[in-house]
Amino acid sequence: MICNSSEELHALVLEAKTYTKIGKVADYIPALGKANQNDLAVAIHYPNGDCLSAGDIEKKFTLQSVSKVISLALVLIEKGSEYVFNRVGMEPTGDPFNSIVKLETMALAKPLNPMINAGALAVTHMIEGTSVESRFDRLLSFIHEMTTDSTINYCEEVARSEFETAHLNRALCYFLKQNLIINEDIEQLMDLYTKQCSIEMNSLNLARIGVVFAMDGIDPTSGKQIIPKEIARICKTFMVTCGMYNASGEFAIKIGIPAKSGVSGGIMGAVPGKFGIGIFGPSLNNQGNSIAGIKLLELLSKNYSLSMF
Ligand code: GLN
Repeated sequence: MICNSSEELHALVLEAKTYTKIGKVADYIPALGKANQNDLAVAIHYPNGDCLSAGDIEKKFTLQSVSKVISLALVLIEKGSEYVFNRVGMEPTGDPFNSIVKLETMALAKPLNPMINAGALAVTHMIEGTSVESRFDRLLSFIHEMTTDSTINYCEEVARSEFETAHLNRALCYFLKQNLIINEDIEQLMDLYTKQCSIEMNSLNLARIGVVFAMDGIDPTSGKQIIPKEIARICKTFMVTCGMYNASGEFAIKIGIPAKSGVSGGIMGAVPGKFGIGIFGPSLNNQGNSIAGIKLLELLSKNYSLSMF
C-alpha cells in the first residue's frame, strides 16, 4: 500500500484543491460548462480489491479523451497492431489535441498518434460492427468488463451537444478521408465518436479501469486477462508519451505515471504493477488537463515515490 488511509488521501485532496480556483472548466459545450470548478475527487484501486477514495467521489463525469486509450486497446485486440499502426502513428506531437496542422502539412500522412483527436478518430473508425449501435455496444461492454459495472452508459445531453458542435473534429475527419485513413460516412463516425467521448462514470470506476492497465491487462478480481499484456504495454507507453496532450513531457518528468486526461477533468492513472488511479477535477489548465488533478498526482508521486523513471 502506498497510502494507508482515506484520511491521508483526504489531506492531499485538500492541499491540491486550492488549484481548482486557478483553472477554468471546459465551456465549448454548455453541458461541460455547468461543471463545478471546485470539485476534486480521487480514487485508488489496488489489485487486491481495496479502494481508497477522497473528495467528490460520487460525481459523474464524461470520459472525453480518456476514452481514447480504451478505444485503442479495443481496436488493438480486434484488428492487431500491424493493422492499427499502418493507419495511425506512434509519435508525440507538440501541438494541441485538436490541431489540424500536421494533417495538412504531411500530405497523405497518417495521424501522428492515437491520443490526439485525429488519431483517436481514426481509431474509433476501426471499431468493428455493422452499425453505430453495435460498435458502441462493443466499446461499452469492454468498459463494463473493466469496471465490473454494467450500469455505465453515455450522457445523451453531452453526446448531442458534442455532435452538434464538433466542427473541427468533422474537419479532421475530412482530412482523414482525403488521406484514405478512413472510408466511412463522416456523420456516422461523428455519432460514434461523440458517444464514446460522452461515456459517463465516477472516479471509482475510472480507478478500476486504471488497475486493469496497471496489472498488465489482468482483471484483479477474476484473474482474467481482459487485455493482452502486450496491448496493455502499448497503451501505457502511449499514456506516458502522449497521454497528457502537449504537456506529456513535463508530466513524465514531474510525475512519471502513465496517465490519460480528458477535457471534462478526468485523469486515469495506471501505476505499473501497483494500482489504478481515477481523478476528477473539472478546472483545467491551458492544455486542457485537470489543474488540481495534476497537482494531486504530483503530491502522490512525490510522497510515495511513484515515478517509474
Ligand atoms: N470531445 C472532445 C473532442 O473530441 C474530447 C477532447 C478532449 O478531452 N481533449 O474534442
